[in-house]
Parts: sequence; C-alpha cells; structure tokens
Amino acid sequence: MSGRAAIVIVGGGMVGAATAYHLAVRQKIRGVTLVEAGEPLGLTSAMGTEAYRQWWPGATMRRFIGRSIDLLEEVSAASGEAVGVERQGYLFVTGDAAEAARLGAEAEAAAARGEGPLRVHPGGERYTAPGRSGWREAPAGLDLFTSGARLRASFPFLCEEAIAGLHVRRCGFLDAQRLGRFLLGEATRAGAEVLRGRVVGVEDGFKVRLEGGAEIGCEKLVLAPGPMLAAAAAMLGAAPPVRCELHAKVHIPDPARVAPEGAPLTIWQDPVRLGWSAAEAAALASSPTERRWLEVLPGGAHFRRRGADLLGIWTTLKEEGAEEGTTRPEFPPVFDPWFAEVMIRGLARLVPGVAAYFGAGPRCRIDGGYYCKAPDNLPLIGALPTAGAYVVGALSGFGIMGAQAAAELVTAHVLERPLPDYAGALAPARFADPSYAAGLDQAALRIGQL
Ligand SMILES: Cc1cc2nc3c(=O)[nH]c(=O)nc-3n(C[C@H](O)[C@H](O)[C@H](O)COP(=O)(O)OP(=O)(O)OC[C@H]3O[C@@H](n4cnc5c(N)ncnc54)[C@H](O)[C@@H]3O)c2cc1C
Repeated sequence: MSGRAAIVIVGGGMVGAATAYHLAVRQKIRGVTLVEAGEPLGLTSAMGTEAYRQWWPGATMRRFIGRSIDLLEEVSAASGEAVGVERQGYLFVTGDAAEAARLGAEAEAAAARGEGPLRVHPGGERYTAPGRSGWREAPAGLDLFTSGARLRASFPFLCEEAIAGLHVRRCGFLDAQRLGRFLLGEATRAGAEVLRGRVVGVEDGFKVRLEGGAEIGCEKLVLAPGPMLAAAAAMLGAAPPVRCELHAKVHIPDPARVAPEGAPLTIWQDPVRLGWSAAEAAALASSPTERRWLEVLPGGAHFRRRGADLLGIWTTLKEEGAEEGTTRPEFPPVFDPWFAEVMIRGLARLVPGVAAYFGAGPRCRIDGGYYCKAPDNLPLIGALPTAGAYVVGALSGFGIMGAQAAAELVTAHVLERPLPDYAGALAPARFADPSYAAGLDQAALRIGQL
C-alpha cells in the first residue's frame, strides 16, 4: 500500500489530535493524515490527572498556557460543553509561616501582573466556593486565606496545621478522552485521515515508511510522538535534547468521601516526615531502595477527586533512576509497589480523613507514564533541521492543558503564518546556542512542576 498526503502527523496522543484539529478544522487544510501506532489517545494522554492551571512562574509559560486555556474554552464551547471542562481551581496549602508569606507575595505579584483580582480572607470581600456549575461561572483571580480557621471554614477536610492557603481560580479539570475524541472526530469530519500504523522510517522528500511496508509520501511532516520523541527525531537524523521521566499517580478509593465532590486540586506545600508503625519502619529500613520513605520528603503531595477515587500525585518525589531520565522509555512502566502507601501517608498530613485508608496501599491502582522534557522544561515546538519537518513535543507534565496552544503554534510554523511572541522561546533552535544549554542546571528541569 502506498498513499500521499500534504501533511503527515506522527502520533495520535492529545498533541497530535489537537494538531490535526488545528490544521484541518481551524485552518481548513486538506490532505492531513495522522498516523498512530496504538490506540489514539491511549498512551500518556490516557494517564494524566486531567488538570489545567493558569499558574506558572515564568512569563513564557504564563502566555503559552494562558493561550491554551483560551483555546480550550473555545473548543469546549464548540463541543457544546461536552469535553468536561470544570473550574474548581488549585488550592495551595501550608502550615509554615515563611511559606504562607511566600504564597501571599506570589498572589500579590500575580494580581499586579493582571492575573485577576486578589481577595484576602478574612477581609471585606465574599469568598465564592468552587462549584461544579461549569467554568464560565467561576470567579476570576485569586483568593488568599491568611488564617487557618478561615481556610478550614471553607475547606473543612483540611488539617489543623494549615495556617494559610491560596486558591487560584483559573484552573480546573477536563475530560482528556472526551476532548481528544472530539478533536479527532472534528478533524476527520473536516477531511483528515487517521491511520493505524507505526512509523519506522522517513526518507527525504518525504516518504514515511510504516511497519509492514506501507509508505506515505508527503510534503510536510509533524512529529508528535510524545515520549518516543528521541526515536522519531532520529529517523530524520535529529537529536533534540530530550529525556523522559517516569511519573505515577495513585487511585485511592474513597468510600467515606473524605474530600468532597467539587474540591479543588489541593496541594500540601510543606516537606513531611511520614508516620509509620514500628513494624513498617523496620521493613522500610531493611530495604536499600525503600528506606528513603523514612526520611523527610519534599513538599508537593497533592490530590484531586475523580469519581469515587482520590487521585494522589507527588511529582516532587523522584522515581528510582528518575534523576538521569531515559531516552528509551519502557512500556508498560513499572512502579514502586510502596508508592501507593507512601501517597496515602503523605496525603493524610493534608487531609486527616485519609488516615482511614492506611494499609490500603497494596489494593490501590498505580499508573502513570513518562514526562518528555527538554532541559528547560519548556516544550519543543517548531522547525527541525530537515526542511519541511517540525516537532511538537516535550510537553512534560502539561501536555493536556498545553496541547491547544502547542497545536496552534506548530500549525503556524507549518503554514508559515505569523508566530506569537513566545514562539522563539519554544523553538528547538534555542538549543543551537551552546550558552543557552550551559546556563541550565538540574533545577531547570523542574521549573513550574508541581
Ligand atoms: C501521571 C501523569 C499525570 C499528568 N497530569 C497531567 C495534567 O494534569 N495536566 C496536563 O496537562 N498534563 C498532564 N500530564 C502530561 C500529559 O499527559 C502529557 O504531556 C501528554 O499526554 C503528552 O501528549 P502527547 O500527545 O505528546 O503524547 P502521548 O499521549 O504519549 O501520544 C504520543 C503518541 O504517539 C504515538 N507514537 C509514538 N511514536 C510513533 C511512531 N513511530 N509511529 C506512530 N505513532 C507513534 C504513540 O503511540 C502515542 O499514542 C501527566 C502525565 C503523567 C504521566
């Protein structure tokens, strides 16, 4: 079999699906073919927490994700609000006075930058609790709680140690499968083709070779292969500076509903030392790989509710070997069996009701996938050295929320249209300057990561 397309997209995760939508639906380009090796939206895009946030430390990500949320709202409206966009916000909580002051200063800086009004509680203004009524009705801006009692009056599930909290409002959840299916469905209706097949080679010109021998000729090629970016780029002789980090999430059944429906994504900012029984502590101490759970662990344990479960995430904990990362991710990924119990113990510091689930770790499902990252933890979107080839990847832990702006940007590159002001900061060519890469340390890999 052989065929011809104007543009071939390699990869049908959220980023590839959004790219097909932007090319075929928004820009009305004919001859778009997306090639996916497995189930569309079945790899990393099926494993996320499905959260989005307008809350980033750097100006580039603030503009990029802000644009993506604007586009997400447009898609939500175009779908008849059928892609599950909700706006419960993100709630950052601390029991530490210095961290409370830092959150307050960040909130003031965000308000001064124009990220919406800042309401301080207790204070003169009314606090509007997050609801499940949809994203349009949610308040803008930020709510800063400067008293633990006032915070717990609005969020009674939080611990007594909490002394302050920052509720950032332009954040929430979406349904990644519904969103992805809507994008692919609309793209297909507009004439795009979705093919099942693994791309195993690319010849000049281009001729895209699939496993099994089929070939597709095309003028332009867009790589959206998620964690397989290094392998896909190698087919073009390119070696973008990317690595993959394994990240897990834990599904904790919550029959007692210790955190209510409609709760924000809630994050404990402070380092914690977990409570273990003497027998558990002895078992952990005897294992060279697990004794780390007896140490003080970094802040950042967080959860959201999804259906009957709490989803627990603790991205700041390092998976074994995560520090080096890998360019050859293995599937299915293997997770530390202790991680679920560690997650439960960590979340119990933030939500004491979670203590009811101590010991339930072995019965919790752990899943997840790979964050594909560039050394500055910014996406790689733009032209590759081979003329006519582009990449839209390295979307780290923000590819579901970032897919819309990523797709819009790569579409503008492919069609040679005007680019937004953040395009240069995300272009692969930034790494052609050796001084740029030399200025990045290990900490840069985590910039903006919660
Ligand atoms: C635990 C966890 C929690 C997360 N939480 C969030 C969150 O709350 N919000 C958020 O925005 N992001 C989140 N993320 C990140 C997000 O899931 C990813 O950034 C996003 O899914 C990446 O999408 P993608 O399309 O680039 O990659 P993928 O979804 O991995 O899709 C890439 C596709 O390309 C295909 N492919 C690769 N190579 C080839 C080839 N040679 N031929 C054909 N097909 C190929 C693969 O089969 C795959 O389907 C999370 C990630 C993890 C692991």
